[in-house]
Amino acid sequence: MPRSTTPVLIVGAGPVGLTTALLLAKQGIPSTILQRGADIMRTGSRAIVLLRETLETFDDAAPGTGDKLAARGITWRIKRTYYKDRLLFSETYPAATHSRYPLFVNVSQLETDCALLHAAQQHYPSLISICFDQTVSGLEQTPQNVIVTTREGGEFVADFVVGADGAHSSVRNLLGVALVGRRSENRFLIADVRAKLDIDYERRFYYSPPGNKGYQAFMLPQPDNVWRLDWQVAADTNLAIEANPERLDTRVRALIGPHVPYEVLWTSLYQFNNMRAEHFTVGRVLLAGDAAHQFSPFGGRGLNSGIGDARALARRLAEVIKDGSPVHSLASYHEERQAAAVANLRATGRVLRVLVPATPLHRAVRHLALQGAPHFAFCRRYVDSGPYAVTQKAIAASA
Ligand SMILES: Cc1cc2nc3c(=O)[nH]c(=O)nc-3n(C[C@H](O)[C@H](O)[C@H](O)COP(=O)(O)OP(=O)(O)OC[C@H]3O[C@@H](n4cnc5c(N)ncnc54)[C@H](O)[C@@H]3O)c2cc1C
Repeated sequence: MPRSTTPVLIVGAGPVGLTTALLLAKQGIPSTILQRGADIMRTGSRAIVLLRETLETFDDAAPGTGDKLAARGITWRIKRTYYKDRLLFSETYPAATHSRYPLFVNVSQLETDCALLHAAQQHYPSLISICFDQTVSGLEQTPQNVIVTTREGGEFVADFVVGADGAHSSVRNLLGVALVGRRSENRFLIADVRAKLDIDYERRFYYSPPGNKGYQAFMLPQPDNVWRLDWQVAADTNLAIEANPERLDTRVRALIGPHVPYEVLWTSLYQFNNMRAEHFTVGRVLLAGDAAHQFSPFGGRGLNSGIGDARALARRLAEVIKDGSPVHSLASYHEERQAAAVANLRATGRVLRVLVPATPLHRAVRHLALQGAPHFAFCRRYVDSGPYAVTQKAIAASA
C-alpha cells in the first residue's frame, strides 16, 4: 500500500484550486497542487467580474489579497441598455456605503490568478506546495487514499483529491462522471481593446446594434482603459476571418465611435456550456469550479461560483481531516454545491432565453418587452442583461 504523501491533492492551479489551497492552509491543512505546464494558464483575461463575496473570501484566506484586487479593479455603477441605435433605459447601482468592498469589481482574471498564486507562495510556503509540469492522467481510489499519476511520470498519494482542473477536467473524466446539460449553439466574439473613451466607466448592452444587426453586443470596462467588447456572432463564424483587423475594426468602431485610437489586446471566439457534473463527490474525490459546472458568462457566475465551491469544500474537508467527521459526510458537499449549480443554471437559462431567444414565442416576447422597456419597469426587468449574480439583496444591503 503506497503511503499518503499529502492530506489533500488539488489538480489545477486556476482560481478555484488556488483558493481551495489557501482556505485549507488557513486552517493549518497542507495541500499539494498539480498544474500542467511550466506556469499558470495565461490565455487572455477570461473572467473579469469579482463579486464582493469573492473578494471577502480571498481576503479571509490570504489577508491583503481581496484588498489588492479591489483596489486594482474598477467599479461601474451605470448600466445602459440600447435597442438598435436607441437608448432604452439606464440603471444606477448604489455606491457601497456599509461594506468594505463594492458589489463587484472588474479586473482581468490574469491578475486574479497571479494574485492568488502570489498569496499561496507568500502566505503559506510551508503548507502549499505547487508542482508545475504535472499533467494528471491517472487516478485510482482505495478505501484509504487516492493515487494520482501524471503524464510526466509522477505518482502522488493523497487522503483526498480536489479536481479543480477546468472545463475539460481529467479528474472528472477519470472518475467517469458525466456532464448533464446542454452546449449552447450560440457563438460569441470577444476583443479586449485599450482605448481612452470619452465616457465614464459603465456597462453598455446593445440589442441588434448597428454593425451587428439581429444579434447583440456589450461593452464592459476594465482597469487601464481596457474595454471588454463582446459580440454574439453567427454559428459558422471563423475567428481567423473575424479577427482580421479590417473586419474587427468595423465592429469595434460601431461600439467606440469613429475616431478614438485603440489597440486590440486579445481576441477569442467562445461557445459556452450550460452543464453540471452528475456527481460532485465520488468517495474521496471532489469536483469544483469549471470541472463541476459551466455556465454562460452572462452574470459573472463561472469564477465566482467556483470560489463558492472552494469555500464549501475547504469547510467540509476540515471537518473530516481535523474534526474526525466520517469520509462519507463529504457527500454533503455534493448536495450543497449541486443545489447552487442548479440555481445558477436556472438563472443563466432565464437570461439566455432573453438574450438569444431560441423559439418564435421567446422572440416575440422579447420584441414586446423591448418596445415596452422605456415605459414599464416589468419590461425593463425582462430585458435586463445582468450582472445577474449581483442579487437584489446585495444591492439593498449596499444602499
Ligand atoms: C473565453 C472565456 C471567457 C470567460 N469569461 C468569463 C466571464 O466573463 N465571467 C466569468 O465568471 N467566467 C468567465 N469565464 C469562465 C472562467 O474563466 C472560469 O469559470 C474560471 O476560470 C474557472 O476556474 P477554475 O479554477 O475552475 O478552472 P480554470 O481557470 O480553467 O483552471 C484550471 C487549471 O487546471 C489546469 N489543468 C487542466 N487539466 C489539468 C491536468 N490534467 N493536470 C494538471 N492541471 C490541469 C489548467 O491548466 C488550469 O490552470 C470565461 C472563460 C473563457 C474560456
